[in-house]
Amino acid sequence: MHIVVVGSGIAGLSAAVSAAQAGGRVTLVERASEGEHGGNTRYTEAYLRMKSMDEVADDFVDHFMANAGGYTDPSIVQEMVRAHDDWSPLARSQSTVDPDVLSAFVEHAGPTLRWLEKTGLKFDFLPTAFITTTTTRLLPVGGGWAMVETLTGAAREAGVDFRFETTARNLVIDAGRVVGLDTSRGSIACDAVILACGGFEGNPEMLAQYVGADAINLRPVARGGHYNKGEGIRMALAIGAAPNGDFGSYHAEPIDPRSGVAEPAIFTFPYGVLVNKAGQRFTDEAPGTVDAHYENVTRRIYEQRDGLAWMIVDAGLDDVPNWQKGSRTDQPPVEAETLFELAGKIGVPADVLEETIGTFNAACGAGQFDPLRADGLSTKGLMPSKSNWARPIERGPFRAWPVISANVFTFGGLKADRHARVLNQDGLPIAGLYAAGETMGIYYRTYTGSTSVLRGAVFGRQAALHACGVAA
Ligand SMILES: Cc1cc2nc3c(=O)[nH]c(=O)nc-3n(C[C@H](O)[C@H](O)[C@H](O)COP(=O)(O)OP(=O)(O)OC[C@H]3O[C@@H](n4cnc5c(N)ncnc54)[C@H](O)[C@@H]3O)c2cc1C
Repeated sequence: MHIVVVGSGIAGLSAAVSAAQAGGRVTLVERASEGEHGGNTRYTEAYLRMKSMDEVADDFVDHFMANAGGYTDPSIVQEMVRAHDDWSPLARSQSTVDPDVLSAFVEHAGPTLRWLEKTGLKFDFLPTAFITTTTTRLLPVGGGWAMVETLTGAAREAGVDFRFETTARNLVIDAGRVVGLDTSRGSIACDAVILACGGFEGNPEMLAQYVGADAINLRPVARGGHYNKGEGIRMALAIGAAPNGDFGSYHAEPIDPRSGVAEPAIFTFPYGVLVNKAGQRFTDEAPGTVDAHYENVTRRIYEQRDGLAWMIVDAGLDDVPNWQKGSRTDQPPVEAETLFELAGKIGVPADVLEETIGTFNAACGAGQFDPLRADGLSTKGLMPSKSNWARPIERGPFRAWPVISANVFTFGGLKADRHARVLNQDGLPIAGLYAAGETMGIYYRTYTGSTSVLRGAVFGRQAALHACGVAA
């Protein structure tokens, strides 16, 4: 059994190591050079939405189901309570969070982490960048970099043939079955292809096509995302694969556009206000804990002119213990002793900014400020309101950071089943074709945070085991 894996992030490496351990002959095709490989995975800290090594977080399924698609047709949803084999082609190919896939995700999360542990990785409940949290997160020690390096070593040991600086271009089909892969360095014949080559966050043309013209204001959150140009998704759609995941959307994270470090996130905005280039507030900066709400606030920033907002705080930010852990930019804030002066420095109309902050300050109520939990200290009679940590911004020095939306990864991908087999538009598996990680779309609306690395590991491994005929 010869398996070609495309991509060397968590999905591709989990697939390659699993397939090689199961006795398959594995060729791994990777666009980047060695040492630069690993895509997004190389740069992530890889938070995992788990409550222990063996169990997913308590809100895992509920969050996915609350963000399962658009307004899915209830007559089709009803079919999905039946056994999967009884679903109609419409249900099997529906663009939605497939409950059968979700149950496989939950079932295999723990065992997959235990398997990763055996490759040499360690996991712990380490500190995160979130000052306030709603859910539980486990981390691999050393983050995604350790995952890429450890699994690359394990793959080499298991005999995986790495082909770096080789770009996958097209699938080779014979009698409806995938029998090979065309690459920038020639064609490779095989029994199965596992597409684990990311989304299309590194492809401006696909971003404009699917996410929209404003995508010009987005950029990958770290260098690795630039390698993901969507070929895996395109080549499968071209042979009739069904789409899944929200093609018009992506995982949004607030970053400082001036910074070139990986993931220069700004998670401190709940302690100040956000104003657009016109100097006006446009959203509730603090609907709840930052881990649960940063994505939706960032989407509002993306909607502003040029996709940019300024986070404005006063000296009160220093009342937040260790606020620096939520501010990962290497760029200093713009500082001034007065709001008037600050407005001049950031190019926002001073009269509007002063009025915005004055109106905001007047709407702040009395109450106990508690930076480490959603304290309910809210504005009164203000639109948009601020629901927590609302204190007047009045003590200099005033500080401002620019914030844009980063594109962590795109949501649009391929419809796959619980074994990561790619399904066609009639909901039937395309023989010899699998998809894992970002290439397999499962997210809609608000991202179920800290599940993308886990998705890659779980479905990369499932794809390999199925391709090699091993029961999971
Ligand atoms: C800074 C940062 C922080 C993040 N934080 C988290 C987090 O805490 N928790 C979480 O769950 N997720 C997080 N994410 C998202 C998560 O890291 C990724 O979605 C996940 O790692 C993707 O894994 P993957 O294997 O699908 O793709 P990738 O890791 O991106 O790997 C894809 C690989 O395919 C290669 N490739 C692409 N196209 C081709 C082609 N045509 N031919 C050959 N090779 C190709 C790329 O070079 C790359 O090596 C974060 C991402 C980043 C960047």
